[in-house]
Amino acid sequence: MNILNIFKEFQDNAKAVTYLESKRWPNQVICPYCNSDKTCSHQEKTKKRWQCWSCYKSFSVTVCTIFHHSHIPLNKWFMLIALMLSAKKGISAYQASRDLGMRRVTVWSMMHRIRKAMATDQAELLKGIVEMDECYVGGKPRKKMMIMNHLSADAGLRRKRLLARLNEREKLRLNELASQC
Ligand SMILES: [Zn+2]
Repeated sequence: MNILNIFKEFQDNAKAVTYLESKRWPNQVICPYCNSDKTCSHQEKTKKRWQCWSCYKSFSVTVCTIFHHSHIPLNKWFMLIALMLSAKKGISAYQASRDLGMRRVTVWSMMHRIRKAMATDQAELLKGIVEMDECYVGGKPRKKMMIMNHLSADAGLRRKRLLARLNEREKLRLNELASQC
């Protein structure tokens, strides 16, 4: 999915919530507080929440993620992540705030959380979102190289996508280190 498709696909915040739920709980919703699977969903004003019947706590899909305690809709978070990953030389909070029509200080704080998550265990939570964005390093795989390496066309593309993602993660880590200096 390229950046334009991400922006189109997640115009509706409910779609972003459903997407994150499918990535976080692919088989069954699990309570983040007690790991029980006895849960049910309910609508709280405009927000979808889950109720645990073991510990009686309610939670949303963003609990214990970088999106927790944020008043920013999830689809805006996804758009910002897509912008950060698609900018080959990085993107400033100023530019991202203009692109998303948001306050610069808000975007700066969101970018800080995203970079921090990329460098820690929470990167796993972002994996599904990161994979929405894809690009090829050095163009499409060459036929000659694929024959030499005994790769199928599909395997060649997968290798390039993996390189692209690793490259982006490394860049974000470097940005994070630079911002701490
Ligand atoms: Zn529970």
